[in-house]
Amino acid sequence: MLSGKTAVVTGASRGIGRAIAVKLASMGAFVVINYNGSEERAMEVKREIEAGGGAAAVCQCDVSDYGKCESFIQNVIREYGRIDILVNNAGVTRDGLLMKMSEEAFDQVIATNLKGAFNTIRFVSRQMLKQKSGRIINLSSVVGVTGNAGQANYAASKAGIIGLTKAAARELASRGITVNAIAPGFIETDMTSVLPEKAREASVAQIPLGSFGKPEQVAAAAAFLASEDAGYITGQVLHVDGGMVM
Ligand code: NAP
Repeated sequence: MLSGKTAVVTGASRGIGRAIAVKLASMGAFVVINYNGSEERAMEVKREIEAGGGAAAVCQCDVSDYGKCESFIQNVIREYGRIDILVNNAGVTRDGLLMKMSEEAFDQVIATNLKGAFNTIRFVSRQMLKQKSGRIINLSSVVGVTGNAGQANYAASKAGIIGLTKAAARELASRGITVNAIAPGFIETDMTSVLPEKAREASVAQIPLGSFGKPEQVAAAAAFLASEDAGYITGQVLHVDGGMVM
């Protein structure tokens, strides 16, 4: 269980981040629910956690902003004393074919998905080094491993997450800090709800287990990686993808 632990989950107002926040809180962690624009939905997550007997706080921060991440993490440490678990989940897509992709669409996706994870790890790792313990979990994606037409920016950001995870795992291992990535396949969230029916059918056809996954199934993997039981696992990429990539 995670009683006495403090967890920060970025992008926890919706989808997978929401499910991870609820799961970690159900295991006893105090959860800091980060969001960027969806304040009301972040408050709903807090209410859901409290209704289940857990404890949480809500904190706005655009993770792509280095300076704001520094203040965000410092405020969490000042208010709650420690950070035991960091889940870098915040992510966006700006899909388009490479030849038509704007510089801004490329930069925004890299800034949120990849630099956002660097920004939080940069400031949280100092605290975890002092504590001589910690768990960092970064959300990658199957397309960070396989690539995907129309997602050059997103695939690059998610492949970057894997490199960042492994480098951080090597740097932080000697102080008892583990760093792992989760690579989900297609999961039922706002991000995939925009897929046209035909594209959805084509996607399901590539999934050996025959359906999209649920945010709770990714949250279960994050909860395991955050637990004491995962203490000897670091630098790994855990696929939660119905067998898409094997
Ligand atoms: P989602 O439903 O679109 O939710 C995205 C979350 O990220 C929201 O809570 C959003 O907060 C937050 N966010 C976006 N930009 C942010 C920023 N600059 N700063 C802070 N928070 C920000 O996405 P999801 O499907 O749950 O995906 C969650 C993670 O899993 C992402 O990293 C995604 O790439 C990855 N993933 C998803 C799938 C899938 O099939 N769904 C597959 C593979 C990987 P606001 O609403 O407050 O802006």
